[in-house]
Amino acid sequence: MVVDRRQRYLDAMGITRYVMREPSADIPASVAESAVTTAASAPKQSAAAVSSDQSSAWEMLKARVASCTACELHTSRTQTVFGAGNTSARLMIVGEAPGAEEDRQGKPFVGRAGQLLNAMLHAIGLARQAVYIANILKCRPPGNRNPSPEEVAACRPFLQQQLSLIKPKVMLAVGGVAAHNLLDTDEAVGRLRNRVHYYGEDHIPLLVTYHPAYLLRRPEEKAKVWQDLQKLYGMLCED
Ligand code: URA
Repeated sequence: MVVDRRQRYLDAMGITRYVMREPSADIPASVAESAVTTAASAPKQSAAAVSSDQSSAWEMLKARVASCTACELHTSRTQTVFGAGNTSARLMIVGEAPGAEEDRQGKPFVGRAGQLLNAMLHAIGLARQAVYIANILKCRPPGNRNPSPEEVAACRPFLQQQLSLIKPKVMLAVGGVAAHNLLDTDEAVGRLRNRVHYYGEDHIPLLVTYHPAYLLRRPEEKAKVWQDLQKLYGMLCED
């Protein structure tokens, strides 16, 4: 990635005066694009076999989420927020739960935190549409309170099925709620980041980073997220 291009990306994330310490971590934009267009949608089985089974599985899952009444959140939601993006993505990002704007639009990460998430992805040359984004919860907790364990348990099968359909190569948990629930730990994000975890029976490599909403409050932590993103990109590019 040429220096001024990288600087533009860092600017997009709002990171200033960052000095790259490891030139080897550079990833050319062309590689970035191919990692999500070619590699992200690298055939896992024949296209014909995938298409009809997979699309009906997605439609059924979406319908089940949209009509879910498994927890109390269905009484206060405007609508469910299923998830969005490339269903063949190599990268699946998992956040916490919809906020007010997501509840209004029915899409994940479309508020201010979502804009920063887009910039974070842009920083490593990934378009938002190239990845898949979902949350631990599909409904907004009133007042954006933390999800309760019962709500997480009720919603878990939906995320699990999304994962089984996508089969991502790498997962990124953004923020403590996602990390704690995916990894069944209460360790601080600061201690969970910067190492590779493995999720579920398929041992999907999983990285943890700060939630973009946290970065909006603590912009000085953005440099750490930049490190996490470079690590993430390196993993996405591995064969
Ligand atoms: N925060 C999240 O964790 N998820 C969203 O979809 C929006 C904000």
